Amino acid sequence: MSATPLRVVRTVADLRAIVAGWRADGERVALVPTMGFLHEGHLSLVKLGKSRAERVVASLFVNPTQFAPAEDFEAYPRDEARDAGLLAAGGCDLLFAPAAPEMYPTGFATTVSVAGVSAPMDGIARPIHFAGVATVVAKLLIQCGPDAAIFGEKDYQQLLVIKRMARDLDLPVEILGAPTVREPDGLALSSRNVYLTPAERAIAPFLNAALRAAADAVRAACPVDDAEAAGLAALADAGFGPVDYFEFRHAETLERLGPGRIDAPARVFVAARLGKARLIDNWPV
Ligand code: AMP
Repeated sequence: MSATPLRVVRTVADLRAIVAGWRADGERVALVPTMGFLHEGHLSLVKLGKSRAERVVASLFVNPTQFAPAEDFEAYPRDEARDAGLLAAGGCDLLFAPAAPEMYPTGFATTVSVAGVSAPMDGIARPIHFAGVATVVAKLLIQCGPDAAIFGEKDYQQLLVIKRMARDLDLPVEILGAPTVREPDGLALSSRNVYLTPAERAIAPFLNAALRAAADAVRAACPVDDAEAAGLAALADAGFGPVDYFEFRHAETLERLGPGRIDAPARVFVAARLGKARLIDNWPV
């Protein structure tokens, strides 16, 4: 990689000083929040950011408050040097990589909680997750002050939570969704795919295949409850562990659809265990 090394800042003050300099030159700024261990999915968000702004800031922060005690915060893969190289090659201008005390100084006591779209699915399976996400993303948006912030449709519920929060809090930023980047066999790229053994990696594409089959069936007027039952059966047959949800929901409100035929704008969502990994995906109907 021949790109010049990426500038890295670790304090809000340094981040703000650099962004203020760009703003003084009339440049727009896009922010791409990440937890690192980057892949082509993250880099696609940087690319979308570059098409919307002269400057792209990526953040790297494995946010402890969005992990429950039994989850994978400690094990979450980390490699900042590799991430910085990928971001530089991808045309990113700045990496904001704060340590935890910069984000959560002693006495930190504020939580941003978004009702409604946070409630179902991952809101049930991971009860503290979206409050942690909304709080850290609110902070990142206030710290950086970007014109646009880019989030992946891979985490579709998260994207809707952030959009709702930005609207409700009058944050002066455009929240943009970017399509899910996948392996050729359909598996959505995820930092957590490193948890998969070779045998599990061979099973993993059935997650996306089950979503596509369910969406096709419902599009062809199959009742939602039949399509969901077939999806659950397909995942069990493929060798998945417990499934947190396999559900058709309204694409904007996340209201549950079915059990019969549907004609609302819909998406089908899944979260399932495969060995040590918990994989999520979604697909439009
Ligand atoms: P993460 O580092 O997993 O927290 O993800 C950071 C951002 O990248 C989030 O907005 C994710 O939705 C997005 N993202 C993760 N995986 C993908 C993917 N395969 N395609 C597109 N965006 C993704």
